[in-house]
Amino acid sequence: MRKVSIFGATGSIGVSTVDLLARQGGAAAFEVVALTGGRNVALLAEQARTLRAQIAVTAHEDCLNDLRIALAGSGVEAAAGQSALIEAADRPADWVMSAIVGAAGLAPGFRALRHGGTLALANKESLVAAGPLLLSEAARHGATILPVDSEHSAIFQALVGEDIATVERVILTASGGPFRDWPAERLARATLAEAVAHPNWAMGQRISIDSASMFNKALELIETREYFGIAPERIEVLVHPQSVVHALVGFADGALMAHLGVADMRHAIGYALNWPARRETPVARLDLAALGQLSFMAPDPVRFPALRLAREVMETRGGAGAAFNAAKEIALDHFIAGRLGFAAMAGAVEETLARLNARGDLTIAPSSLDQVLEIDHLARVTAGEVIAGAGATMTGKAGGKRV
Ligand code: NAD
Ligand code: MG
Repeated sequence: MRKVSIFGATGSIGVSTVDLLARQGGAAAFEVVALTGGRNVALLAEQARTLRAQIAVTAHEDCLNDLRIALAGSGVEAAAGQSALIEAADRPADWVMSAIVGAAGLAPGFRALRHGGTLALANKESLVAAGPLLLSEAARHGATILPVDSEHSAIFQALVGEDIATVERVILTASGGPFRDWPAERLARATLAEAVAHPNWAMGQRISIDSASMFNKALELIETREYFGIAPERIEVLVHPQSVVHALVGFADGALMAHLGVADMRHAIGYALNWPARRETPVARLDLAALGQLSFMAPDPVRFPALRLAREVMETRGGAGAAFNAAKEIALDHFIAGRLGFAAMAGAVEETLARLNARGDLTIAPSSLDQVLEIDHLARVTAGEVIAGAGATMTGKAGGKRV
């Protein structure tokens, strides 16, 4: 039986993964090793009982008691904290879903590669912060990394049987998020509730806000470069409000291969779970006649500067990816806490990168996960200083006062 683990089982991707495992036979078809989550211990315990996991781990020590109570009599072990997450990742598994959000997902994913199995990678931050290291670690252990991002799964599928050397360009599509047509002055005043209300995809809070700011697409540009090794100038972004075409790959003969489907991550998760085979998934089927039209437009670089920042990061390389992701996470924390305006996030990230660059802190490519985490830490501290120091001016051009 295939041994599987899910890091971030209680999140949006995690719940969809549990759903697919259950539909494919659950505990009778898979030996579930570890499930991890955060504060939602009731859900984590329910998942662990249903799938008869060996161990359930909450990231928070203060949640351990509640988790123990929720698992009483189930035979599932309970554990908590960062070291328990790593220990869970050390338990051998053939297929591991990496679906913790943010840089917190790096260390468990790296550890899981040691088993030489498959890492289904939803945690795009791992590739942004540490792409070359992650890929070399996978190669060292004979492990396979499969992308679990709708665009990257689409590209991966379009490349089946193709020679990567014949790829002329890759087009990532972006819904444009809830603020696609908002003027700059309204963007500056966007609230948290408005930013999380994604028009097409139901996702975790943080990636939903990143979609609204296009930071998600910025991370995905870097993810594309790192995972597929495609030069930045060959990667394009198109706004496509219907979120039906997930990505396109253009070949030397001018052909464009597109992947179409409804906006349901169980497409990409199911593909990674069953690869190289395909199996039935419960996703709704597209009705193109009912849809009628698909539209595409260029992204606006003025209202959404995140894409430009990603291109600068790809030019700098070195530690820039780790710093970019960390600075973005801090700016996002401040926006969620109501201390930073929506449109000011990009400025805070840009200023953080500028300060780190001016000090020469990003020139050397990290050669270990510890070095990645050092850059991550440095960028978090610097971003905190940038945001604290800028005060009212950081609410964005039209912001005026703190929002
Ligand atoms: P989410 O917020 O819904 O869930 C995150 C999971 O990680 C939860 O189980 C949470 O408990 C856990 N977690 C959060 N912080 C943690 C920490 N510090 N330590 C340990 N565990 C922690 O997020 P999501 O939307 O499921 O996204 C997960 C990952 O997948 C992200 O990297 C995201 O970019 C990527 N992704 C998500 C989608 C989507 O549709 N949701 C699509 C593509 C890629
Ligand atoms: Mg995506």
